[in-house]
Amino acid sequence: MVAELLKGKQYLRILSPYPPRRARLAPMSEPLTTAIIVAGGRGQRAGEGIPKQYRPMPDGGGDNVLARSIALFAENPAISKLCVVIHKDDVSLYDNSIYYCNNKEKVIHAFGGDSRQQSVFNGLKALAESKPQTVFIHDAARPFATPALIARCLESLSDNDGVVPALPVTDTLKKAENGLIDQTVPRDGLFRTQTPQLFSFDKLYAAHQTAPEGLTDDAAVAEHAGLRVQIVTGEAQNIKLTTEEDFLMNTQILPRTGSGFDVHRFDAPGSAAEIMLCGIGVPHDRKIIGHSDADVGLHAITDAILGALAAGDIGDHFPPSDAANKDRASAVFLAHALKLAAARQARLTHIDLTLICEAPKIGPHRDAMRASLSALTGLPLSAVSVKATTTEGLGFTGRGEGIAAQATATLLIAGDA
Ligand code: MG
Repeated sequence: MVAELLKGKQYLRILSPYPPRRARLAPMSEPLTTAIIVAGGRGQRAGEGIPKQYRPMPDGGGDNVLARSIALFAENPAISKLCVVIHKDDVSLYDNSIYYCNNKEKVIHAFGGDSRQQSVFNGLKALAESKPQTVFIHDAARPFATPALIARCLESLSDNDGVVPALPVTDTLKKAENGLIDQTVPRDGLFRTQTPQLFSFDKLYAAHQTAPEGLTDDAAVAEHAGLRVQIVTGEAQNIKLTTEEDFLMNTQILPRTGSGFDVHRFDAPGSAAEIMLCGIGVPHDRKIIGHSDADVGLHAITDAILGALAAGDIGDHFPPSDAANKDRASAVFLAHALKLAAARQARLTHIDLTLICEAPKIGPHRDAMRASLSALTGLPLSAVSVKATTTEGLGFTGRGEGIAAQATATLLIAGDA
């Protein structure tokens, strides 16, 4: 669902460590430094929906996780060529991620394998014909790495085969069985490794060709091949976005307002005893014609919520062509929009509805409508507004041919989710 919504949406990059510039491809005589961004994972631990590398940055920067990781290398003048390894099902998500990329001409992509290790190998194969001297391997899910860390890795390579950023373990480590502590493990000499990891291209490529399956980073591949790999100090903020919690960290809460508008036609006088408005029955002698229960108030509010989420309109979610929606209670539509909001960590905070008609008179039912909307949305009464107006006898509402409703809904959304 979310993946479908994101199709065609391009994230606007507004944070960048460098101004836009054109690529300066290094002449063949200069050392060619390349990078591989591993972005083929499915990222299921970070919750439902699209793979985590395509989710919006939790710092609310407006770009997505992969776009930020790509920018780190594509905008770095030290990097000549970049290969992003993606899952073959993610091509359109990837295209959107690089839409606003500066120096796009530096960037190629390859398809991932069954494991991270195979994905890196596929990236190495894709870069091999450029005959790079060195290659960074970076996990897309570490978008907070900085140009300073890249520089530090480059400075430290010298006589080594590879450089790996890492931080010493500071927590006390326990070995446990069945949840019971067995012993304390000495943490001296233990490090937590990060990416980007920098290697001599030829040595890492050769190491991958002989590596056993199941190694979780390239430092392990290098280690298996007996390469000399230097540790440099990593960065505390260079976390790997893994769980839903990581995506909520540092999240900005942003207000979003959506609007909704709906019109329904009245049937002949005597066609009804009451009509549904805002989830309650209101005495009126003219049926509202519609496929569902034709609750024009709930339809406008539902569209306003969908609008705040940029999630299409009520007709997309409940097509009139679907027989299941015949005579359906419109409260179902509202509940669906609220469920979509919850899935995006968005919370409805206010609705304001204006009903436009000559009859029925709304005033006598206003409080009951507000109470109904409060019950349907979970909002306090103080955040539920229902207003009414006529159109002074003008137009179709003035002639009593139909009823119109206009709504705004305000949601608080975590980051740019
Ligand atoms: Mg409608």
